[in-house]
Amino acid sequence: MSELNLILLGPPGAGKGTQGERLKDDFGLPYIGTGELLRKHKQDGTELGREAAGYMDQGELVPDELVIRMILEEISDRGGDGFLLDGYPRSVAQADALAEALESNGRRLTAVLLIDADDETVIQRLSGRRQCVKSGHLYHVEFDPPKSKDGYCDIDGSRLVQRDDDKAETIRQRLETYHEKTKPLIDYYDQRGLLRQFDGMREPNEVHDHVRATLATLRLEERL
Ligand SMILES: [Zn+2]
Repeated sequence: MSELNLILLGPPGAGKGTQGERLKDDFGLPYIGTGELLRKHKQDGTELGREAAGYMDQGELVPDELVIRMILEEISDRGGDGFLLDGYPRSVAQADALAEALESNGRRLTAVLLIDADDETVIQRLSGRRQCVKSGHLYHVEFDPPKSKDGYCDIDGSRLVQRDDDKAETIRQRLETYHEKTKPLIDYYDQRGLLRQFDGMREPNEVHDHVRATLATLRLEERL
Protein backbone atom coordinates (compact mmCIF):
# COMPACT_ATOMS: atom_id res chain seq x y z
CA MET A 1 0.00 0.00 0.00
CA SER A 2 1.38 3.38 -0.94
CA GLU A 3 1.54 6.13 1.64
CA LEU A 4 -1.01 8.93 1.83
CA ASN A 5 0.88 11.94 3.12
CA LEU A 6 -1.67 14.71 3.12
CA ILE A 7 -2.07 18.32 4.13
CA LEU A 8 -5.52 19.81 4.72
CA LEU A 9 -6.19 23.42 3.81
CA GLY A 10 -9.34 25.48 3.79
CA PRO A 11 -11.19 28.38 5.37
CA PRO A 12 -13.15 27.98 8.60
CA GLY A 13 -16.64 26.66 7.98
CA ALA A 14 -15.84 24.88 4.70
CA GLY A 15 -15.88 21.45 6.31
CA LYS A 16 -12.17 20.74 6.58
CA GLY A 17 -12.62 19.23 10.05
CA THR A 18 -15.48 16.99 8.94
CA GLN A 19 -13.58 15.72 5.92
CA GLY A 20 -10.43 15.21 7.99
CA GLU A 21 -12.41 13.16 10.48
CA ARG A 22 -13.78 10.95 7.70
CA LEU A 23 -10.41 10.44 6.05
CA LYS A 24 -8.99 9.45 9.39
CA ASP A 25 -11.64 6.71 9.60
CA ASP A 26 -11.46 5.67 5.93
CA PHE A 27 -7.74 5.20 5.74
CA GLY A 28 -6.70 4.89 9.38
CA LEU A 29 -4.49 7.92 9.00
CA PRO A 30 -3.38 9.78 12.10
CA TYR A 31 -4.66 13.35 12.24
CA ILE A 32 -1.85 15.69 13.21
CA GLY A 33 -3.08 19.10 14.30
CA THR A 34 -0.18 21.28 15.31
CA GLY A 35 -2.05 23.16 18.06
CA GLU A 36 -2.98 19.88 19.66
CA LEU A 37 0.54 18.53 19.19
CA LEU A 38 2.10 21.51 20.95
CA ARG A 39 -0.32 21.20 23.86
CA LYS A 40 0.35 17.49 24.20
CA HIS A 41 4.12 17.95 24.32
CA LYS A 42 3.81 20.76 26.81
CA GLN A 43 1.47 18.73 29.00
CA ASP A 44 3.61 15.59 28.88
CA GLY A 45 6.67 17.68 29.65
CA THR A 46 8.72 16.18 26.81
CA GLU A 47 12.03 17.74 25.92
CA LEU A 48 10.46 19.28 22.81
CA GLY A 49 7.51 20.44 24.91
CA ARG A 50 9.75 22.14 27.44
CA GLU A 51 11.67 23.86 24.67
CA ALA A 52 8.42 25.04 23.07
CA ALA A 53 7.03 26.19 26.42
CA GLY A 54 10.09 28.41 26.84
CA TYR A 55 9.08 30.33 23.74
CA MET A 56 5.34 30.30 24.41
CA ASP A 57 5.74 31.56 27.98
CA GLN A 58 7.62 34.56 26.68
CA GLY A 59 4.90 35.22 24.15
CA GLU A 60 7.16 34.22 21.27
CA LEU A 61 6.35 31.99 18.34
CA VAL A 62 7.62 28.45 18.54
CA PRO A 63 10.35 28.20 15.86
CA ASP A 64 9.55 26.19 12.73
CA GLU A 65 12.43 23.86 13.33
CA LEU A 66 10.92 22.78 16.66
CA VAL A 67 7.40 22.30 15.25
CA ILE A 68 8.80 20.24 12.38
CA ARG A 69 10.69 18.02 14.80
CA MET A 70 7.41 17.35 16.62
CA ILE A 71 5.62 16.60 13.37
CA LEU A 72 8.36 14.25 12.16
CA GLU A 73 8.38 12.42 15.47
CA GLU A 74 4.60 12.01 15.28
CA ILE A 75 4.83 10.79 11.70
CA SER A 76 7.50 8.24 12.51
CA ASP A 77 5.50 7.01 15.54
CA ARG A 78 2.05 6.79 14.01
CA GLY A 79 2.24 7.71 10.35
CA GLY A 80 3.73 4.63 8.69
CA ASP A 81 0.96 4.54 6.07
CA GLY A 82 0.60 8.27 5.89
CA PHE A 83 -0.79 11.21 7.80
CA LEU A 84 -3.21 14.11 7.72
CA LEU A 85 -1.54 17.34 8.65
CA ASP A 86 -3.73 20.28 9.68
CA GLY A 87 -2.58 23.74 10.70
CA TYR A 88 0.90 23.45 9.25
CA PRO A 89 2.54 24.82 7.14
CA ARG A 90 1.22 28.37 7.40
CA SER A 91 3.82 30.01 5.18
CA VAL A 92 5.91 29.24 2.12
CA ALA A 93 9.05 29.14 4.27
CA GLN A 94 7.41 26.53 6.48
CA ALA A 95 6.29 24.58 3.42
CA ASP A 96 9.87 24.50 2.15
CA ALA A 97 11.18 23.43 5.53
CA LEU A 98 8.58 20.67 5.76
CA ALA A 99 9.34 19.36 2.26
CA GLU A 100 13.04 19.23 3.10
CA ALA A 101 12.46 17.47 6.40
CA LEU A 102 10.18 14.88 4.79
CA GLU A 103 12.65 14.30 2.01
CA SER A 104 15.48 13.71 4.44
CA ASN A 105 13.28 10.95 5.91
CA GLY A 106 12.71 9.45 2.49
CA ARG A 107 9.13 10.69 2.25
CA ARG A 108 7.20 13.27 0.34
CA LEU A 109 3.72 14.76 0.21
CA THR A 110 1.07 12.89 -1.75
CA ALA A 111 -1.33 15.81 -2.05
CA VAL A 112 -2.61 18.98 -0.49
CA LEU A 113 -6.40 18.89 -0.11
CA LEU A 114 -8.04 22.28 -0.27
CA ILE A 115 -11.64 22.21 0.98
CA ASP A 116 -12.84 25.54 -0.31
CA ALA A 117 -15.93 27.70 0.09
CA ASP A 118 -16.62 31.30 -0.78
CA ASP A 119 -16.67 33.91 1.95
CA GLU A 120 -20.41 34.53 1.86
CA THR A 121 -21.16 30.83 2.33
CA VAL A 122 -18.77 30.64 5.25
CA ILE A 123 -20.34 33.69 6.86
CA GLN A 124 -23.84 32.31 6.35
CA ARG A 125 -22.89 28.95 7.83
CA LEU A 126 -20.97 30.22 10.84
CA SER A 127 -23.00 33.30 11.73
CA GLY A 128 -26.22 31.26 11.81
CA ARG A 129 -24.93 29.01 14.57
CA ARG A 130 -26.62 29.23 17.96
CA GLN A 131 -25.73 27.56 21.19
CA CYS A 132 -27.89 26.98 24.26
CA VAL A 133 -26.63 28.74 27.37
CA LYS A 134 -27.17 25.75 29.64
CA SER A 135 -25.42 22.85 27.91
CA GLY A 136 -23.98 24.16 24.68
CA HIS A 137 -26.36 22.25 22.38
CA LEU A 138 -25.88 23.51 18.84
CA TYR A 139 -28.43 24.79 16.33
CA HIS A 140 -28.45 26.75 13.10
CA VAL A 141 -31.07 29.40 12.42
CA GLU A 142 -31.40 28.27 8.83
CA PHE A 143 -30.19 24.68 8.53
CA ASP A 144 -31.05 23.23 11.92
CA PRO A 145 -33.45 25.47 13.89
CA PRO A 146 -35.00 24.35 17.20
CA LYS A 147 -38.26 22.49 16.66
CA SER A 148 -40.29 23.43 19.72
CA LYS A 149 -39.73 27.14 20.30
CA ASP A 150 -37.82 29.72 18.33
CA GLY A 151 -34.68 30.85 20.16
CA TYR A 152 -34.85 28.11 22.82
CA CYS A 153 -33.16 24.71 23.19
CA ASP A 154 -35.31 21.66 22.38
CA ILE A 155 -33.51 19.56 24.95
CA ASP A 156 -33.31 21.73 28.04
CA GLY A 157 -35.39 24.78 27.16
CA SER A 158 -32.56 27.24 27.78
CA ARG A 159 -31.97 30.33 25.67
CA LEU A 160 -29.97 30.14 22.42
CA VAL A 161 -27.18 32.66 21.91
CA GLN A 162 -24.60 33.46 19.26
CA ARG A 163 -21.00 33.02 20.35
CA ASP A 164 -18.69 36.01 19.79
CA ASP A 165 -16.59 33.84 17.45
CA ASP A 166 -19.64 33.38 15.24
CA LYS A 167 -20.42 37.07 14.77
CA ALA A 168 -20.28 38.03 11.10
CA GLU A 169 -17.70 40.75 11.71
CA THR A 170 -15.35 38.36 13.55
CA ILE A 171 -15.72 35.78 10.79
CA ARG A 172 -14.95 38.40 8.15
CA GLN A 173 -11.72 39.27 9.95
CA ARG A 174 -10.73 35.63 10.29
CA LEU A 175 -11.38 35.11 6.58
CA GLU A 176 -9.25 38.09 5.68
CA THR A 177 -6.33 36.71 7.67
CA TYR A 178 -6.93 33.29 6.20
CA HIS A 179 -6.80 34.52 2.59
CA GLU A 180 -3.75 36.66 3.20
CA LYS A 181 -1.81 33.76 4.72
CA THR A 182 -3.09 30.91 2.61
CA LYS A 183 -3.06 32.34 -0.91
CA PRO A 184 0.75 32.04 -1.26
CA LEU A 185 0.61 28.47 0.03
CA ILE A 186 -2.11 27.54 -2.43
CA ASP A 187 0.00 28.92 -5.28
CA TYR A 188 3.07 27.14 -3.95
CA TYR A 189 1.42 23.72 -3.91
CA ASP A 190 -0.39 24.34 -7.15
CA GLN A 191 2.92 25.07 -8.91
CA ARG A 192 4.27 21.80 -7.57
CA GLY A 193 1.30 19.84 -8.87
CA LEU A 194 0.22 18.81 -5.39
CA LEU A 195 -2.96 20.85 -4.98
CA ARG A 196 -6.34 19.13 -5.18
CA GLN A 197 -9.33 21.41 -4.78
CA PHE A 198 -12.78 20.42 -3.47
CA ASP A 199 -16.00 22.33 -3.38
CA GLY A 200 -16.86 22.67 0.30
CA MET A 201 -20.18 24.26 -0.62
CA ARG A 202 -21.54 20.89 -1.68
CA GLU A 203 -23.03 18.32 0.68
CA PRO A 204 -20.41 16.80 3.02
CA ASN A 205 -21.14 13.30 1.62
CA GLU A 206 -20.56 14.50 -1.90
CA VAL A 207 -17.30 16.22 -0.96
CA HIS A 208 -16.22 13.06 0.83
CA ASP A 209 -16.89 10.90 -2.25
CA HIS A 210 -14.93 13.30 -4.39
CA VAL A 211 -11.97 13.30 -1.99
CA ARG A 212 -11.94 9.50 -1.83
CA ALA A 213 -12.07 9.18 -5.61
CA THR A 214 -9.20 11.63 -5.96
CA LEU A 215 -7.08 9.78 -3.43
CA ALA A 216 -7.79 6.44 -5.11
CA THR A 217 -6.60 7.88 -8.43
CA LEU A 218 -3.47 9.29 -6.80
CA ARG A 219 -2.63 5.89 -5.35
CA LEU A 220 -3.08 4.21 -8.72
CA GLU A 221 -0.82 6.75 -10.35
CA GLU A 222 1.83 6.19 -7.69
CA ARG A 223 1.90 2.48 -8.43
CA LEU A 224 2.46 2.94 -12.16
ZN1 LIG B 1 -29.54 22.79 25.38
